[in-house]
Amino acid sequence: MSEIKNLNPQRVWKHFYSLTQIPRPSKKEAKVIEYMKNFGENLGLETIVDHVGNVIIRKPATPGMEDRMGIIFQGHVDMVPQKNSDKVHDFEKDPINAYVDGDWVTADGTTLGADNGMGCAAAMAVLEADDLVHCPVEALFTMDEETGMTGAENLKPGIIKGDILMNLDSEDEGELYVGCAGGVDVNVSMKYDMVDAPA
Ligand SMILES: [Zn+2]
Repeated sequence: MSEIKNLNPQRVWKHFYSLTQIPRPSKKEAKVIEYMKNFGENLGLETIVDHVGNVIIRKPATPGMEDRMGIIFQGHVDMVPQKNSDKVHDFEKDPINAYVDGDWVTADGTTLGADNGMGCAAAMAVLEADDLVHCPVEALFTMDEETGMTGAENLKPGIIKGDILMNLDSEDEGELYVGCAGGVDVNVSMKYDMVDAPA
């Protein structure tokens, strides 16, 4: 399955592949949090694991860009653990069997974890790159997005320094969200008159 690592841009796909190898269902993210922590520290970057398990990695601006607004790349490390009924797979122990199928990257009988492995991989690629000119960058890897958003919810005010947050959890290719992953439930009540549906 190493062919995923050969996809372009390779600097993104290699991190995506690595993430598929780390079991990371929501609320069981200890391994991937440790992985992200080591990733940041091995790059020599300021790395913080907060009190709930969000990982923040800071990369200073390149020379001459220090006065620019800081960008935050947000992704979430957990994934939805779903499998086909006939598939034997332990999401807390087994790596995802991801592979390239024609134009698609998919997984054998399980969810792939592209949500949000791709967002995390993109941020990791920026953190690792030594050929980009950029403002101050922070990567914010939140945990438990899929089952309560307790990572984002418990993020302490002030822990993030940047000015512009780009949420890398968009569901549509080519679209970027400006703002935070989140959801709001709204209950609306209204009066209405019933009419017959047209035949
Ligand atoms: Zn997501």
